Amino acid sequence: MSITSNKTLELTLDLLARDSVTPEDKGCQDLMISRLEPLGFKIERMRFGDVDNFFARRGTEGPLLVFAGHTDVVPTGPLDQWHTPPFEPTIKDGMLYARGASDMKTSLAAFITSIEEFVAENPNHNGSIGLLITADEEAAATHGTVKIVETLKARNELIDYCVVGEPTSNQVVGDMIKNGRRGSLSCYLTVKGVQGHIAYPHLVKNPIHLASPAIKEMVGTVWDEGNPYFPPTSWQISNINGGTGATNVVPGELEIIFNFRYCPEYNGEGSTEANLKSRVLAILDSHGLEYDIKWEHNQSYITPGGALSSAITAAIKHSYNVTPELSTTGGTSDGRFIADISKEVVEFGPLNKTIHKLNECVGLDCIEPLKETYKKTMEILLGNGA
Ligand SMILES: [Zn+2]
Repeated sequence: MSITSNKTLELTLDLLARDSVTPEDKGCQDLMISRLEPLGFKIERMRFGDVDNFFARRGTEGPLLVFAGHTDVVPTGPLDQWHTPPFEPTIKDGMLYARGASDMKTSLAAFITSIEEFVAENPNHNGSIGLLITADEEAAATHGTVKIVETLKARNELIDYCVVGEPTSNQVVGDMIKNGRRGSLSCYLTVKGVQGHIAYPHLVKNPIHLASPAIKEMVGTVWDEGNPYFPPTSWQISNINGGTGATNVVPGELEIIFNFRYCPEYNGEGSTEANLKSRVLAILDSHGLEYDIKWEHNQSYITPGGALSSAITAAIKHSYNVTPELSTTGGTSDGRFIADISKEVVEFGPLNKTIHKLNECVGLDCIEPLKETYKKTMEILLGNGA
């Protein structure tokens, strides 16, 4: 087989050659749309702010199976540390190197070619096939999936099954699918003190000394025990800054940034997010601190296993001969927005070993089975028993 006789690889190469650094699209969506239109998809371009997005649908009936993903990629980092130019996709020793190879242009190409094959073989398939594509996933994620979802929700166009093409595989391709993600709650805390000369301690209030017992208490807190879907909530400080650089000055402020990756375990009144916030405030107050505080939140999501996770599990077994584990680990993803209007959301794609790194790559031998996996999933959920 010559390298470009494979349609999925060919389209992957074409997408990878476009330097769509977030939130740029650089024609990736046009390319995808040009393949979907001849198949009878109704295309809706949705531009929010200066971000390109689109929603496409073939069919009007339910169930609606949607493939979701992003055309943007993270910045390359230092070019001189790439072995080959990041936007000149290069095949070497069975690997395909380029920015976006695993996150997630190979999945986008596999969406398209799997749909082409499925539609050719099942022109009158059951239900509908959809694509929900954004160029704003890697950065702010404010003008992408969240807005498309709002649009669909406003007209009551709800999704039954959604496959997100994020790279979820861990050790071998096919070993992990995700049906949820932990929440992320970041906090920017400024503890107030009184600045002064270090030789006159009675005239200062040292915010580092004042904050230390509160930090110790938070480090030692067990926030929850986790649940069958999620590991226990973790709390970590990522930044701590205080001091003027001089050896003889007590600083007036201490800045701390910390983050929860949380399990949505809390069952009491209000949300897990609100519960974590109030527990933090209670600790700060119990130590008599004066502070300013600012929060940033990405919600968690979980969709219980059902027809979609069974279908994709069977499809992965068929294509990769691997049985995937259902997991909720890793960072946040656009699945959190889609879960609002979709009964089931499952994320599945290539290995996540090199994502966002220098010399990002994907194994050539995973590309064809990826297309097969998406195709088989459609056959199980929408095939009319040919
Ligand atoms: Zn991604």
